[in-house]
Amino acid sequence: MRKGKIIDTQGPAVEGYDMALKEIKAGMDVARLNRSHGTVEEHDTNYKNLRKAAKEAGRNNAILVDIQGPKIRCSWFKKNAEGKDQVTLKEGQEFTIIGDKTIIGDETHTGCTYEGIAQDCHPGDPLLIDDGKVQLKVTSVEGNQVHTKVTVAGPVSSHKGINLPGVAVSLPALTQKDEKDLRWGVQEGADIIAMSFVRHASDIKRAHEIMDEEGRRVPIVAKIEKPQAVENLEEIVKTFDGIMVARGDMAVEMPFEQVPLVTRRCIELCRKYAKPVIVATEVMGSMVHSPIPTRAEASDCAEAILNGADATMTSNETAVGEYPIETISAMQRISKYASDHGFNYIPKLDPKDLDLSNGGATALSAKELADEVNAKAIVTFTENGTAVHQISRLRPKADIYGFTTDVHNFGWITLSWGTVAMMSDKKASEMSRDEILAKVDHDLKAKGAVKTGDQIVLSLTEKGDLLNGEESVILHTVD
Ligand code: PEP
Repeated sequence: MRKGKIIDTQGPAVEGYDMALKEIKAGMDVARLNRSHGTVEEHDTNYKNLRKAAKEAGRNNAILVDIQGPKIRCSWFKKNAEGKDQVTLKEGQEFTIIGDKTIIGDETHTGCTYEGIAQDCHPGDPLLIDDGKVQLKVTSVEGNQVHTKVTVAGPVSSHKGINLPGVAVSLPALTQKDEKDLRWGVQEGADIIAMSFVRHASDIKRAHEIMDEEGRRVPIVAKIEKPQAVENLEEIVKTFDGIMVARGDMAVEMPFEQVPLVTRRCIELCRKYAKPVIVATEVMGSMVHSPIPTRAEASDCAEAILNGADATMTSNETAVGEYPIETISAMQRISKYASDHGFNYIPKLDPKDLDLSNGGATALSAKELADEVNAKAIVTFTENGTAVHQISRLRPKADIYGFTTDVHNFGWITLSWGTVAMMSDKKASEMSRDEILAKVDHDLKAKGAVKTGDQIVLSLTEKGDLLNGEESVILHTVD
């Protein structure tokens, strides 16, 4: 079994039911609907196609809705002589950014989505457009206008992102658009929400309020891309449900040479606190235009899994690339080879470095027992994913089977390294020990995961799922 999971960003390159089915068959575990792009109607169609295709393929597939967050964007530009809403800025010229999104841009100025931009900028601050492809330096501020000089020339077009590296932007964690998109995601049935530009652990509060109003808490993955998030990393990992290392904006917001070590720190902390962690952006970047990855990309993808990430993610490669299915297949091959042959390179965890609750300690015993007897599977029951994450972070050799009664939790645990999600119509606490064992034997055999005589380990750790109210580790021979 391939242990590392694959997340694929949806977009025009994988539009339609047939492409959704191809993505799933090629190895996609989680589909990412990115609310920075596309209309709600387009995402709604994607959502329906993806659910239908997963059913048809008989595969566990989850849907992640990514909320844009307080990203500052240029307004519309006027059309140039070729009919494109684009201008080209020259080095040394003056260019003004105005805190008003209704302004139409030209060669001298653009509007932007952040009204308060002039209050947050100071002379000498760098301003980056389109992931740093065009660079400006602030010369002065006046009212809602930020006057700049172009230091790196290039084209700028409508809605390109503007980054203010090192500036503590005073935008709220969720904009009005984000709140709408979050409500949409919850109502639509998303299994996972990703929040962009998280800065503090408390950024989760408003999202939880909205989810409570909508009547369902969905696990929230914090995208780590701001220096403030790196400063507050441990609290963010503890508070959020998972982490995405969003290397695209991160390499604009902070010096790119820091990205590899921030990635390692995210992985280390996520394993400590038993939270899933995704390594994102340009993993297979050149495959936007090439049917095969570069050697560096093959290494980057494998290294992410060997360093301890749960999942790797595609962005433009599958959203707008020329070879979306080839990208997923390549990622699937690299990730599978890495865990089949490089298992021993995955860092072992020292229990003294782990955040260990009773559940965590029980999971640890289950993992050690399973390794000792060379068990075929480790099985747990979970209603919020924690029991699975506590086993998965230890990276056992045996495949993990997580039973749940909750269809969205089924999607959430699909993201976890080495885990197969299984539906159950009863919680472990609603069954006798014999019923649990009979169900597990039956369902794992039906999946072709085990046969009579195989040894498996059950780890029952979650409140409400405990046998006789106590954590239990059971070594069982399949009947
Ligand atoms: C990133 O910046 O790396 C990222 C994953 O976010 P987005 O694709 O929304 O820019």
